[in-house]
Amino acid sequence: MTCSLQAAPVLVVGAGIMGTGIAQVAAQAGHAVWLFDVREGAAAAALQKLAATLEGLVAKGRLAAEAAQATLARIEGVASLQQAAHAGLVVEAIVEQLDAKQSLFRELEGIVSPTAVLATNTSSISVTAIANGLQHPGRLVGMHFFNPVPLMKLVEVVSGLHTEPAVAEAVFELARTWGKVPVHARSTPGFIVNRIARPYYAEALALLQEQACTPAVLDACLRSAGFRMGPCELMDLIGHDTNFAVTQSVFDAYFFDKRYVPSPLQREMVEGGLLGRKSGRGFYRHGEGAAAAAPPVLVADAPMQARELVVHGSGAVADWLEQALTRALAPQGWGPGRQAGSGWTGVAIDERRLVQTDGRPAHVLAEQLGQADVAVFDWLLATPPAPGAALAYALPQAASEHWAGQAPAWLAALGLVPLRVADSSGLVVARTVAMLVNEAADAVLHGVCSADAADAAMKLGVNYPAGPFEWLQRQGRNAVVAVLRALDAEYRGERYRVSPLLQRQR
Ligand code: NAD
Repeated sequence: MTCSLQAAPVLVVGAGIMGTGIAQVAAQAGHAVWLFDVREGAAAAALQKLAATLEGLVAKGRLAAEAAQATLARIEGVASLQQAAHAGLVVEAIVEQLDAKQSLFRELEGIVSPTAVLATNTSSISVTAIANGLQHPGRLVGMHFFNPVPLMKLVEVVSGLHTEPAVAEAVFELARTWGKVPVHARSTPGFIVNRIARPYYAEALALLQEQACTPAVLDACLRSAGFRMGPCELMDLIGHDTNFAVTQSVFDAYFFDKRYVPSPLQREMVEGGLLGRKSGRGFYRHGEGAAAAAPPVLVADAPMQARELVVHGSGAVADWLEQALTRALAPQGWGPGRQAGSGWTGVAIDERRLVQTDGRPAHVLAEQLGQADVAVFDWLLATPPAPGAALAYALPQAASEHWAGQAPAWLAALGLVPLRVADSSGLVVARTVAMLVNEAADAVLHGVCSADAADAAMKLGVNYPAGPFEWLQRQGRNAVVAVLRALDAEYRGERYRVSPLLQRQR
């Protein structure tokens, strides 16, 4: 089957939030669009709402009045599926239920022309399963848009086992002409974004479960690392019921692979109605009268004391540490020395060490060095970090009281806000990022997507500051694997096993 969909009339089935957005985008790209919904009046109501939205954009000067009118003129609400006979493309955005989607496509097959392409906007159901039972399953493809459709650039073009490559290619090209960034994905649980993103929530929930720190600390650290929202505030926004259900469906679909195990803490929140913004309370309180969560601020006011200071390491973080310490100590008339080839990154402060985490918890490092006064600090993904960036650090239990004051004082002298977390492997950012990279590596290993597609999908679908393979490149394969191995050593079990793709990259 070869096909071009560039000028094809489009039928959108389901006039909910996604269907209406898809209709708008298709119409803005010049297609004639029909919008159908099984609920009487739903399509008309959706079009009225869309008209009001476009009018608002015109009033704000963000859209030309003619463009708004032309878009609306191209969309027509229809009362029957028969219009499918004239459509080159049907996009389904109905309820997320396999049987409903299967029976809709079976009905559509009896109406559409032999060359029409059928697309599903499912976010979690197997495209292969939806196509099962169709006479021509090769023409069914996933076209997974993100909410809000007019603003979100990413479209996952999802191929099931039956999908003909020419069909996926035609939908890919079409999405491009709609101003989107399409990526190819194989129909597997969670596709690309919803699968690779699991550790962003799971590692935060695991840290909270073991009382490593508060939600506010997690959010501050990951926001400072460049994520637009921290995991706790993001779960509150998504809704814990939705987030938990997605995790559970991926866990089920992978036959209870421990990698995706849902969190008992989150289940309890769901059972208790702590759903996040929609219920007024999740990790935080929301709604009227709710005080904004106080950002964690730690004023480390112990005066720094040292006879000798040496920056160790050779990368960008070590370079920045040297510059920042040189600046901080200039008024006192001294500065740090530098030792590049010592195999660790951080600062030796007399006989004590402030070490960028290589995954090992501080107590393990202390034992290996025979020195209780060590501290580990989290990955700095961007150097120089923004002034006031939050950074997690941990101390061994056996650290002296003097060092417990000195370690954060030195981090604060670098312009950071040091936040103490429990002494666990990979702290917050290193642990989260290493697990995101690991998940992306497995997705590529399993043929779900290419490395480039994974990077584009995570940046555009969930606004990550970089793609997992970009992090892998910047941090280095050895650093990522070291954090995963440390996590695996600490927690045992399957969850932190290193992806074979990373193991083979030597
Ligand atoms: P929605 O509840 O807002 O809209 C669904 C619409 O489909 C409703 O108007 C309903 O009346 C209609 N409908 C149900 N069964 C129908 C049928 N058999 N024929 C015609 N119309 C029917 O839902 P939504 O959020 O727009 O989601 C739609 C689809 O898009 C789902 O598959 C969902 O998983 C997927 N999706 C949703 C999001 C999101 O963030 N909401 C993101 C990506 C994908």
